[in-house]
Amino acid sequence: MIFDTHAHYDDEAFQEDREGLLAGLKDAGICAVTNIGASLASCKTTLALAERYEWMYAALGVHPSESAELDEAGLLWIKEQCNNKKVRAVGEIGLDYYWEEPEHEIQKRWFVRQLDLARERKLPIVIHSRDAAKDTLDIMKAEKAEDMGGVIHCFSYGKEMAREYLNMGFFLGVGGVVTFNNGKKLKEVVEYAPLSSIVLETDCPYLSPVPNRGKRNSSLNLPYVVDMIARIKGVDRETVEQVTWENGMRLYRLS
Ligand SMILES: [Zn+2]
Repeated sequence: MIFDTHAHYDDEAFQEDREGLLAGLKDAGICAVTNIGASLASCKTTLALAERYEWMYAALGVHPSESAELDEAGLLWIKEQCNNKKVRAVGEIGLDYYWEEPEHEIQKRWFVRQLDLARERKLPIVIHSRDAAKDTLDIMKAEKAEDMGGVIHCFSYGKEMAREYLNMGFFLGVGGVVTFNNGKKLKEVVEYAPLSSIVLETDCPYLSPVPNRGKRNSSLNLPYVVDMIARIKGVDRETVEQVTWENGMRLYRLS
């Protein structure tokens, strides 16, 4: 059984065939998916999906690149939706310095506010951090993010940074990048991190693994990621599936 801990099935890339695709996941061994909100609009569509499918869960939050849209009313709305039992985490939240906008101060302010929200709602966090390693870690330490726990999604930093987050009890999200020829850094992190701290994710429709790199991604591609992790760890595929399944259940506090 495979747990896709980070997907965006509300994305317009799935407009044409969403229902059929989702209906076929169970037969392919994909037995749980967490759909992740990234803007206020996608939090709404994420909630609708999680209400519709019994095996789909929701994380609600505003992505750093969308954080300029946030205001007190938006934050309050997210907070209220967190009472819904299908909402298992706050995210994706964090910092993204790859893009110029919004300015860092705006990203930081709403990152901190959403960390506060997670603490208040006693929910784990789904972190997005790109080209912002130091500021992300500084804020998470200052805010005692280890109290909430959660996942560093699409982990893109090196072993040193991995150690910091593992010491704080965070999971590392691993997806298609681990199969890329230029994915050496992530392969080293997977080798270094205990399997009990790794969760599978697609970030679909993005980041399709080899041999489907560049095409639209979906949870159906996760066996390629499982294969690569199994090879790096020197264990069989079943072990990777089983342990990462249990990790996904622990991450989102499901039983
Ligand atoms: Zn995402």
